[in-house]
Amino acid sequence: MLSIFVETSCNRYERDECVTCHVFEPLKEYERSERHLTPAQAQTMADKIKRVAVLAALAKQEINLTGGEASQNPEIVEIFKIFSSVSPRVCLHTNLDINSIKSKRWLRLTEIMKLSGRIDITLYPTVWEKSQKPFLEKILKLQKRMLVNVVFESLPDLKMQINILADFFANRGEAYAGVEKLLEEYREKINFLADNYPDCDESRYTGHMGKIEEFGGSESFTLGINLLPGFKIDAMGRRHMSSTPFPQKPYLLECTAARGSIEIMTVQQNGNMTPCCDVGNLTCLPHFGNILQDSAAELQEKFEASRRIIEAGIGKNYRNLNSGRSGKWESEGVPPYCV
Ligand code: SF4
Repeated sequence: MLSIFVETSCNRYERDECVTCHVFEPLKEYERSERHLTPAQAQTMADKIKRVAVLAALAKQEINLTGGEASQNPEIVEIFKIFSSVSPRVCLHTNLDINSIKSKRWLRLTEIMKLSGRIDITLYPTVWEKSQKPFLEKILKLQKRMLVNVVFESLPDLKMQINILADFFANRGEAYAGVEKLLEEYREKINFLADNYPDCDESRYTGHMGKIEEFGGSESFTLGINLLPGFKIDAMGRRHMSSTPFPQKPYLLECTAARGSIEIMTVQQNGNMTPCCDVGNLTCLPHFGNILQDSAAELQEKFEASRRIIEAGIGKNYRNLNSGRSGKWESEGVPPYCV
């Protein structure tokens, strides 16, 4: 999957409503004039994607347009069309924190859904009743698939959010029966944990959740659910090593790129690429080139050169983690919790 940042601003963090937003610190450095990715930049990216085999293969799986709040880009419909020329599946992530059906942001989302783009959301309980719930009702009439991110700060917080979703999809009839069943499974498991082990560690949490499906539903409607532990960001804009709900242990990130396989390539708005979900807050120094500036041949070279640097860096991280020096940054600039 290719995750492309198309917008640096966001109505929620401009109103200071996402205090632990993990994207804001790396994005706030952008000048006002650079807030929106332009169609010309999107076209340069799309042309490059076609010419670099790894990027073309990832794009075929899916292109996810994100940010910042992607719907705040005034050219987002045009940008969506440009990326649709290199991928059969282009989706857009939104906070769905929208005030009115007359909002330009809502009209852009509607246009994209009419063009068969998929709109995904992150759940924000503070604006659920006011905006997310009524707009989600409208989205259900316009598309048949959706991915919902649930970012949680604690197990009681996760319980509250899952209950919101499960209540929303309950008793909607046959078309949503599969989604209802999936969410009831989540509800049962998470309510049990939150009520009995609210401060448990991550191994109890993952053990209890087991192999629960991430997708449920039918041809009529399919829902994907993505439970994401929240992370605090330090004053330097770096992601904390431990997640907020499971602070007991540092979170280790297995770097597939170092092993020669890229599952996600994140394209930051300035064109820099990292082969994981790093939005800039992991501050991984070995970039995989710049899609706006480097030629296709240069990108291929940088992929291999950076892969080797990361491989060396994670080797040192292993040694540090096993010798009581966890958290130490080495000269390769690879985050110390990447292994
Ligand atoms: S080493 Fe870099 S590229 Fe690999 S997982 Fe960590 S942050 Fe991502």
